[in-house]
Order: sequence, then structure tokens, then C-alpha cells
Amino acid sequence: MPTTEQQRLRYLQSMGVTVWLPRGEAAGPAAPAAPPGVVTPVAEMDWTQLRESVAECRSCPLHESRTQAVFGVGSPDADWLIIGEAPGAEEDRLGEPFVGRAGKLLDAMLASLGLSRSTVFIANILKCRPPNNRDPQLQEAGACAPYLQRQIDLLQPGLILALGRIAAQRLLETEAPLGRLRGEVHRYGKSGIPLIVTYHPAYLLRRPTEKSKAWRDLLFAASILGESAR
Ligand code: URA
Repeated sequence: MPTTEQQRLRYLQSMGVTVWLPRGEAAGPAAPAAPPGVVTPVAEMDWTQLRESVAECRSCPLHESRTQAVFGVGSPDADWLIIGEAPGAEEDRLGEPFVGRAGKLLDAMLASLGLSRSTVFIANILKCRPPNNRDPQLQEAGACAPYLQRQIDLLQPGLILALGRIAAQRLLETEAPLGRLRGEVHRYGKSGIPLIVTYHPAYLLRRPTEKSKAWRDLLFAASILGESAR
């Protein structure tokens, strides 16, 4: 099958469209568990298929400048799903979210709650690094959304913690400023998963005096998760 045809299938797949092909025509490597000729929709992928699909994604132009896609890290049984904005230079190089300076602060924030990156799950709105760390564009976030949605569906976390304005606004589909989104329990999507908004650790590195507010947000999130577990 020519590469362009594989790309077309991949675009359709990332939009959640099932593609039926004549018998014998290979659907490509992203659908190992599906019958021959069927591309598994993102919304039905298992972790392995999803990881492979993200690694090969060409749904938006960011694939041209990335070193690699950054899938996410953590436990598939995590109660906490922590969602940032997009990989930066270090994340693009190493293939893991939040491994730079902001990531070290995130690790410390998690540790203060008795958590670590192996007990929570950490992902981003975008899987690929925007050039020069510019803000994600709406089309890029839209192209990536089915992957994050599938991660959420597979994880079924008890709580989503949105780090920073971009993550909060994309997840809640709002343009409201961060200050208005903090301090209340939002509900994510149809499943109504509690979602709490806090500052992005990169912002806290620039404004360390705001760390006490972020700490309050974390305690608030922990209390909401504790309540829903009862
Ligand atoms: N900032 C983010 O929002 N995500 C990362 O993975 C790294 C930095």
C-alpha cells in the first residue's frame, strides 16, 4: 500500500472512523488485533494499539518537527490523571512528559502528596512539541483530542488535574481565565470525572510566591478524590 494511502487511513483512524478495505489489503501496523483489512478506531484501541498509533501519528503538521511523540507516563490504574500542555524540548528529546525543570517541580508537588510519576498518569493536551514552545493551536489540540480521550477512557481516573490555562481551557472547552477556573470542581465530559485546575509548574518556577496557592489546589484535589472514593 502506498504511504499516502496509509496516511489517509491514519487520518481517518485518528478521527475515530472505521475503514473497511478489500480482503488482503494490509491496513498497516497500527491495528495488530483487528481482523485483516480493518483499522481499529482510536476509541476502541487498547493501550498497545494507542501507543503505536500515537507514535506514528501524522494528523497535524507537528509530526514534521518532532523528534518523537510523547505518549504519557504512569500507571494504567492511576486515580490521578495529570494533564499538561505539550512536550517541550527535553520531553521531545526523551519521549516522556515533564522531564525538564517544570517536571522536577511537578515531581516535588506529587511527592508532597505521597504520589509519584509511577502511581499517577501524566499526559499532555498535545503529544508533539510545538516549534519554539509556542501555544498549541486549536486544530492541533483537535487532532490530538481522540488520543487523550482514549487515554481517559482506558484509565477511568478518579480525578483529572489540569495544569495551567491551556490544559484547563481545552479540557473544559472554555476561554475563561485560569483565575476563574481554579478553586472549584468541574466535571469532565460525559463521564463527569471531577476536574480541578491549578497553575502550570513552569509558571510556578517564574512566580514561586504562587506555590502556596498551588498547594491549596492540590489539597483540594486530594480531598475531592477522597470524597469520591468513599
Ligand atoms: N510542559 C508541559 O505542559 N508538558 C510537558 O510535558 C512539559 C512541559
